[in-house]
Amino acid sequence: MADYPALKLLIDGRWCDGAGRATEPVLNPSTGAVLGELPHVTGADLDLALASSARGHEVWRKTSPVERGRILQRAAALLLERAENIASLITLELGKPIAESRVEVETAAAIFNWNAEEGRRAYGRVIPSRSSNIRQIAVREPLGPIAAFAPWNAPAITPARKISSALAAGCSVIIKPSEETPATTLAIAGALQEAGLPEGALNVVFGDPAMISARLVGSSIVRGISVTGSTQLGKQLGALAVQTMKRMTLELGGHAPVVIFGDVDPEAAALSAVAAKFRNSGQVCTSPTRFFVHESIHDRFAASLSELADKITVGDGFAATTKMGPLANARRVESMERFVDDARARSIAVTAGGERCGNQGFFYRPTVLTNVDDDCMASNVEPFGPLAVTAPFRTVEDAIRLSNRLPFGLASYVMTNDMRNSSVMAEAIQSGNVIINHWQASLPETPFGGYKDSGVGSEGGVEGLQEFQTTKYVSQFSG
Ligand code: NAD
Repeated sequence: MADYPALKLLIDGRWCDGAGRATEPVLNPSTGAVLGELPHVTGADLDLALASSARGHEVWRKTSPVERGRILQRAAALLLERAENIASLITLELGKPIAESRVEVETAAAIFNWNAEEGRRAYGRVIPSRSSNIRQIAVREPLGPIAAFAPWNAPAITPARKISSALAAGCSVIIKPSEETPATTLAIAGALQEAGLPEGALNVVFGDPAMISARLVGSSIVRGISVTGSTQLGKQLGALAVQTMKRMTLELGGHAPVVIFGDVDPEAAALSAVAAKFRNSGQVCTSPTRFFVHESIHDRFAASLSELADKITVGDGFAATTKMGPLANARRVESMERFVDDARARSIAVTAGGERCGNQGFFYRPTVLTNVDDDCMASNVEPFGPLAVTAPFRTVEDAIRLSNRLPFGLASYVMTNDMRNSSVMAEAIQSGNVIINHWQASLPETPFGGYKDSGVGSEGGVEGLQEFQTTKYVSQFSG
């Protein structure tokens, strides 16, 4: 297990500690113990970070894409060299099993490498002119300084995506990661600094989220925002960003439907679903949650899913036997209790879990609610925790209605062996991702975004890079 580092801010290329600043404790969710004290930025720190980001952008946008790529690749190599240490920090702060944390660090490095490569291919277009003495081109330019906000549930992947996409596109970044999981972003920033990133190209701030976002999103220096968090937060920051006409990428809540057709083996489907559902204690915006199962196999699927959920070993993320860690904080445990209380009050069967476990930390048992109706809380509000619900459907039209019923549309899943079903569902489901017969909703090279209240724009893939670029048209008369 890693020693927990002294927590700092990174402002204008300098590491700043808590001296003269307010601090807040960072907790280990497995024990509730304090890991360290996190310094909070002051208003003056933010002004300095904004000025630094403006200067950093001027230097960075003029750095060639090849050189930018080299720096990102060097940083990725450092992340991989330090993977074991960074994985330990993730497990200490978030609680997820260490094997999952290792995969997260490898994925973060892969995202850096993909953006490093793709940043070199910011091609423009030559547009045929109407007269022989005019040359017309459209070029993609870096958008400008970016303010990024990342939550706690993927402390390596989400900051890595925002930082490396914006940097690869030629933009400077000020990032506010979650105050509950700060150490991984600091490790990423340290790797970038060692890799040769110029001062001001990246600033890392922590503190009072509302104060920081008001200042950064309100500033005319910042030209784009990238937010991962709740739909409510996205709407709030989006409304503020419009005041200064900023570009915005918003990755917000989801409540992923899973449609399982009657031609699928229900026990095999449950076996693959249980691993996907309870990964990271279900605290994933693409987590499969609303299982709509054809009435011919619903009861067998629900029984199997519940039995498998009950068998999951819950414990400290460093223990070799642990398959699911704690929840990230006390808020999430209280939230799980509200979902289950609501279900019990409606006489909905709690067929697995439904209670806290352990005598310290924030543990909750993997939970399944069976035969839910459209009205219960779990059918309508994203649980963002270890909770799955099941309900039977009869026709394809029912499955489509149930899948599209909510204002969310981030990830969705379909399990079937019938090509007609998969084609119909891929076309009909209103969500940014439709994943058929597996559970991998995003990769470094694929676009990831939401429909409706789940967000605006894309992260990942070419689309994710383009969010941080703007188009300039140049028309030149040569006489
Ligand atoms: P929360 O709203 O308290 O915090 C979520 C994140 O947003 C945190 O990192 C927090 O620091 C940040 N935040 C909150 N207010 C902010 C502000 N005014 N300006 C800038 N940042 C701000 O929510 P929570 O209790 O941590 O989680 C509750 C819900 O948030 C979840 O149920 C889920 O729907 C959503 N969430 C989504 C994701 C995702 O990956 N899309 C991740 C985490 C949480």
